[in-house]
Amino acid sequence: LTVLGIESSCDDTASAVVRGHDVLASVVYGQTALHADFGGVVPEVAARAHAEKLDHCVEDALSAAGLHLADLDAIAVTAGPGLIGGVLSGVMCAKGLAAATGLPLIGVNHLAGHALTPRLTDQVAYPYLMLLVSGGHCQFLIVAGPDKYRRLGGTIDDAPGEAFDKTARILGLSQPGGPAVETSGIGGDPRAFDLPRPLLNQPGCDMSFSGLKTAMLRARDAVVAAKGGLTRLDQADLSASFQAAIADVLVEKTRRALAIYLAIKPVTPCFAIAGGVAANQVIRGRLMQLCASLDTDFVAPPLALCTDNAAMIAYAGAELLAFGQRDDLTLSARPRWPLDKTAAPMLGSGK
Ligand code: ATP
Ligand code: FE
Repeated sequence: LTVLGIESSCDDTASAVVRGHDVLASVVYGQTALHADFGGVVPEVAARAHAEKLDHCVEDALSAAGLHLADLDAIAVTAGPGLIGGVLSGVMCAKGLAAATGLPLIGVNHLAGHALTPRLTDQVAYPYLMLLVSGGHCQFLIVAGPDKYRRLGGTIDDAPGEAFDKTARILGLSQPGGPAVETSGIGGDPRAFDLPRPLLNQPGCDMSFSGLKTAMLRARDAVVAAKGGLTRLDQADLSASFQAAIADVLVEKTRRALAIYLAIKPVTPCFAIAGGVAANQVIRGRLMQLCASLDTDFVAPPLALCTDNAAMIAYAGAELLAFGQRDDLTLSARPRWPLDKTAAPMLGSGK
């Protein structure tokens, strides 16, 4: 199957063409510069930029793949969750293409795109254990099929990606915060600042990251009060300490999630990560170490397929199409859309 994917749920306008497990083209137009003056993504600005860029983005993806619309088997589009204006722009674009070509239209959950990425890149078999860790989410999922997810636990407040972005602001670094904090932390001492690891010793695999932002603010203010400002080394130590706190929590909770999984199903699963924060080398390295120590297979997709992209949407669309899903022109955009239909919606996720 050759599927065109369209993604516009946050601040990346993306389009991709995927055939089987081959990513023939993946184009991402970021909007970082548009939002730079506002300290965060402005939904109206994002929606307008998506609407302006989507057609070009799709054309670029098709031409990079060397294909025409007639060569496609389906059109897959993120139908939520996300900023509703952006999601709507993508859904309208996909509906237009589906109506013009008669190709099947498939509405994809953005989180399913992240959660199925390990199957695109590594041919992981169902079921597997997934840590989806991104800008708006952080959850452990048993992935049992393209439309079958069971949430074992996750953050009860903020997502780590939000904490990275906030920390970058606190330290005077650029957005998006994740890569900026990661770069800043290279060479820093991860033990320089004693930051909280909330819920670390609680049973289960729920997590909390909102206290970490406040702790970072206090740590920065203490340094500024003592020295009158932050040196490059202070930034490095603060960044490294922050990453260590997040990594410690993710490692310990992954250990528990694996144990919970084993209590439900008798076979050690493959453990996979995805989502923007899964692009972080410190976090990837720590989770890889954990899995090696537990003799558990570990899959971490390439960085460009961890952060938002449309290849994951095209791939998820292909799986859903094979599974029998087909949407029509009544497909609607959903601002909220939990993967695990039995789970209560996440508190305070902001998305
Ligand atoms: P969601 O997928 O939950 O709806 P989103 O689509 O906005 O949210 P992603 O693109 O999946 O989020 O991830 C973006 C987040 O990942 C941002 O918060 C960004 O700071 C973070 N991120 C990106 N690269 C890194 C990195 N190298 N280290 C840590 N965090 C990172
Ligand atoms: Fe995402």
